[in-house]
Amino acid sequence: MKEFILEMEEYAKDKNVPIIEKDSITFLMKYIKLNNVKNILEIGSAIGYSSILMASVSEDVKVTTIERDEARYMECLKNVKKCNMDKKINVVYQDALEVNLTDQVKYDLIFIDAAKGQYIKFFEKFKYFLAKGGIIVTDNLKFHGYVGSKKPIESKNLRGIVSKIEKYILFLKDNEEFDTKFYDVGDGLSVSVKKEDLK
Ligand code: SAH
Ligand code: MG
Repeated sequence: MKEFILEMEEYAKDKNVPIIEKDSITFLMKYIKLNNVKNILEIGSAIGYSSILMASVSEDVKVTTIERDEARYMECLKNVKKCNMDKKINVVYQDALEVNLTDQVKYDLIFIDAAKGQYIKFFEKFKYFLAKGGIIVTDNLKFHGYVGSKKPIESKNLRGIVSKIEKYILFLKDNEEFDTKFYDVGDGLSVSVKKEDLK
């Protein structure tokens, strides 16, 4: 298993697949363990790296992960099979904004890690599937150090992403329904909890 994780890390590096940073996955795995998390929803599977690690925390953990890119979806399926985790990880090949979560499953942890420009939409769509006491974690809030930095950004595309992440951060800070903490871990993480669950 350990070797296979290293293999996935190599693959991601070679093929430029943006997988989660070490400190961030460690943070998530600790949370899962400490809070007995059982049901996880992930938006943005890529090759299954974070799904597989989260699912490996305990026997009880189940992950549903959504990926819209066909090649990555296929790679993710392959990796999940290799780890014998087909029963623990359900990989859905669809745009997360079009997915119909019809079953009544609620999630203890929702991990948002897909298109950075759509974060508010993901949050607004999937917050209804949060179990009582559950959290929404979002990755890449620093976006490789560009968010919150004063250095000028040449690329228009990159500027657009950074500005959308900044909007998302404000959206979380101003949110009446959720209380959010920001962590300077990895590429920047947020943890949002429903305010009524805090009472
Ligand atoms: N969570 C993974 C990395 C995900 S990278 C890990 O840490 O190992 C982000 C992925 O989100 C990309 O593979 C991209 O194709 C996918 N993605 C982006 N927008 C999406 C959307 N709207 N629906 C589903 N997947 C999306
Ligand atoms: Mg990420």
